[in-house]
Amino acid sequence: MKTTGPLLLLIEDDPQLRTLLTTALESQGYTVFAIASGREGLTAARNRHPGLLILDLGLPDIDGQDVIRRLRTWSGLPIIVLSARDQESDITQALDNGADDYLTKPFSTAELMSRIKALLRRVAKLPGGGAQECFQVDELKIELTRRRVFVGEQEIHLTPTEFRLLCVLVRNAGFVVTHRQLLEKVWGASYIEHSHYLRIYMGQLRHKIEADPARPRYLLTEAGVGYRLNMGEN
Ligand code: CA
Repeated sequence: MKTTGPLLLLIEDDPQLRTLLTTALESQGYTVFAIASGREGLTAARNRHPGLLILDLGLPDIDGQDVIRRLRTWSGLPIIVLSARDQESDITQALDNGADDYLTKPFSTAELMSRIKALLRRVAKLPGGGAQECFQVDELKIELTRRRVFVGEQEIHLTPTEFRLLCVLVRNAGFVVTHRQLLEKVWGASYIEHSHYLRIYMGQLRHKIEADPARPRYLLTEAGVGYRLNMGEN
């Protein structure tokens, strides 16, 4: 399979993982530029014009969080972060700093491939794609401008706040949205500490939308990080 996809920039200090990921990505037809440190990575991001960045958060020279922060001052480059297990606060911080998605180690290369494809697809849709009228996954259908929600044939009546919350997840469908981002977008910047609002409203939404709210199919919890609207297999 030879596709000339966008250049992928990989910043990972572990030489074994760097080699393994480079080989796996190249076998999928991607061109990879692999770097071992944050500073060199930032230079490469500027000079090589990559289409996507895969960034390890634990780097020897500058912190991965700093790489994201510095990058976001001038670039909208899509970023997937790689994090050690049980580093939920790191992941949340990385997403709040502007990373687009994350994987916790160890992960399968198949999982990384599907995240890369999903992120590239989302980025490709961005120009003019913000005004998507209708969203559907399985039985769940949301008409954004008409503000109507259906599960199968049945219309679901949501309060304005529930609908706003659902909309933020729809606009980021398939990707995690952090607690902070949801609180800020739905309730406002002064509410970012009020995570109980989110729990209550997410509970209500699930109750209305999910067949079994305790085992949600659409509104997935990313433990300690946020929520993700499930896009199914694609
Ligand atoms: Ca590392």
